[in-house]
Amino acid sequence: MSDAAAREDAVPQREAAPRREAAASARDAAVCDRLFCLTLGWEYVPEFVSLEGGSRAVLREPVIAIVARSPIGWVLLETGIDARRFRGGASPLYRDGAPEFPTDGDPLLDALASVGLAPGDLALAAVSHLHIDHAGGLRHLAAAGVEVAIQRRELAFGLERAGEPEFYLREDYSHPELRWRQLDGDAPIAPGIDAISTPGHAPGHMSYRVTMAESGTWIFAIDAIDLGRGIAEDRCIGWAADPADDPLRRRSHDRLVALAAAEDARLVPGHCPETWPALAHAEGFR
Ligand SMILES: [Zn+2]
Repeated sequence: MSDAAAREDAVPQREAAPRREAAASARDAAVCDRLFCLTLGWEYVPEFVSLEGGSRAVLREPVIAIVARSPIGWVLLETGIDARRFRGGASPLYRDGAPEFPTDGDPLLDALASVGLAPGDLALAAVSHLHIDHAGGLRHLAAAGVEVAIQRRELAFGLERAGEPEFYLREDYSHPELRWRQLDGDAPIAPGIDAISTPGHAPGHMSYRVTMAESGTWIFAIDAIDLGRGIAEDRCIGWAADPADDPLRRRSHDRLVALAAAEDARLVPGHCPETWPALAHAEGFR
């Protein structure tokens, strides 16, 4: 080795330690360090809604939310069902049985409390789409003044076109105090949390990428892929709120499967009775 080459080798070695530290702190700034998978209830859904080509057999599916601690603070993803509307029994919106809830109290408030949080502790929230089983807790975020990220297209569809036939209840998301942060497609939500645009099931549906300090990358499909069987059997979700979006169900499914493979990420379906319970334990993830 020439002297010059030796010097070139030596210089980076002397600078390597501080550079490594700088890289590590940049990385730390863009990851979450705690994550809890919360179960806000269970709903009865025919298999063909969750799985293309599915049967009329009724599945008992979890209603989920995630809360992750980003460098900006705790971020809530999804808000569940407004239990007050459905405790009375069957409803035209849930023909196969009334939803069930883990407690007699409010599902979102009780789930947050189970991990020591209240809406006022949240730095930010997001909602993947405005279906009844995702938008029901938005009123708590309105009351606490928490900003909520949503796709612009989804909010417009919800406010201008959708109603009960599409499984939307405008009372869930039309509170004037709601502070929306409208996104257009793929976008960062917070350091360590990104929106992945996955339209199809709903016109402005989004999924989430959460990058964790220790457990790596998680992709929460939410309703772009409902069930573990959807991944295992390569079957996309079975129903679109707007029939014009039908072809996008397959495109978004394929996109998430490819992203998860490319990023070596854990891909979490949004309503899976088989895979969700294992994630919803009290210790959470780091
Ligand atoms: Zn859903």
